[in-house]
Amino acid sequence: IQWEKQVRNSAQIHRSGGMSVLVTGAAGFVGSHVSLALKRRGDGVVGLDNFNNYYDPSLKKARNSLLNTHGIFVIDGDVNDARLLDKVLDVVAFTHVMHLAAQAGVRYAMENPQSYVHSNIAGLVTLLEACKSANPQPAIVWASSSSVYGLNEKVPFSESDRTDRPASLYAATKKAGEEITHTYNHIYGLSITGLRFFTVYGPWGRPDMAYFSFTRNILQGKPITIYRGKNRVDLARDFTYIDDIVKGCLGSLDTAGKSTGSGGKKRGAAPYRIYNLGNTSPVTVPTLVSILERHLKRKAKRNVVDMPGNGDVPYTHANISSARSEIGYKPTTDLQTGLKKFVRWYLSYYGYNHGKPVN
Ligand code: NAD
Repeated sequence: IQWEKQVRNSAQIHRSGGMSVLVTGAAGFVGSHVSLALKRRGDGVVGLDNFNNYYDPSLKKARNSLLNTHGIFVIDGDVNDARLLDKVLDVVAFTHVMHLAAQAGVRYAMENPQSYVHSNIAGLVTLLEACKSANPQPAIVWASSSSVYGLNEKVPFSESDRTDRPASLYAATKKAGEEITHTYNHIYGLSITGLRFFTVYGPWGRPDMAYFSFTRNILQGKPITIYRGKNRVDLARDFTYIDDIVKGCLGSLDTAGKSTGSGGKKRGAAPYRIYNLGNTSPVTVPTLVSILERHLKRKAKRNVVDMPGNGDVPYTHANISSARSEIGYKPTTDLQTGLKKFVRWYLSYYGYNHGKPVN
């Protein structure tokens, strides 16, 4: 009963025409930012996260505390728990589900391939089954990834480019997710929007990502490993600032509209969409390091090595014209500015003191 009350309170809408959104992966990097942004504009938000230890769980707990102080309740649970999902979707008639829970990261698949299948495939199907049976059916917006472009060499990447040559198991599970969601749209009329995020960075970011671990190592005086592609070409990424990604997520939720309310009857009537959410200006990894050095006022010990065959692709670059025209997506933060904000957050959270938490 206490639990139900917390879920209901958290889902309450405080603006006219607002939405109630179940955010999976809410204790994660993107999920925490999206949850706060929705709450700030008066939408109802309930989070769900299994708080796994892929990276420092204390960071997830800290994000969770922040959400709690803003009146957002995060259910401690797994997207593979069908009974839990049915119960949550029964307690609240969510208009939308923002599905961000996933096993992220490209390299970890070599250590734990099953975790990708568990969260990104089995978990996705469990969630879709619950949404399919919910009445009304919520519109679903979920995170795919730029990694689906895999060995595609035609740049910038457009949504219609081929995605049949993934370079990592992570990418393969995201690509599978796009196909799985398509079938749920086709058969059960679920409204689906897949967002291909391009290397998202910013405050409260993920410790397993390069910009984050480089910052930690530079502050600790430890060397950083910079991978170089074939023919000594620098790797480059279309780094995208978190606030821009959040705006893209909210724009998608707004466009996805209210629930289709079909209860599975309006076959094929609901939209199926896929959008790139990138920054449209790739930056090489050595340049990223130089910017960090400037903001941190310290020199990095650079260790440049040839890229091992670990699933990384050499270059990413988004064409965002579809997202621009259909969901009003317009990134405004360049890497210099965004990293400055990240570094400011990092230092206030961990301190200069060798990257150990201050409290
Ligand atoms: P994150 O790891 O910080 O967030 C994911 C959250 O989901 C974590 O808090 C984790 O505990 C939770 N989770 C994982 N498996 C779960 C499960 N089975 N049940 C319940 N909760 C589970 O990652 P992020 O960077 O915030 O990424 C969010 C989404 O965006 C993911 O789907 C990711 O694949 C995708 N994405 C991220 C990036 C990026 O650069 N950050 C790029 C492309 C795609």
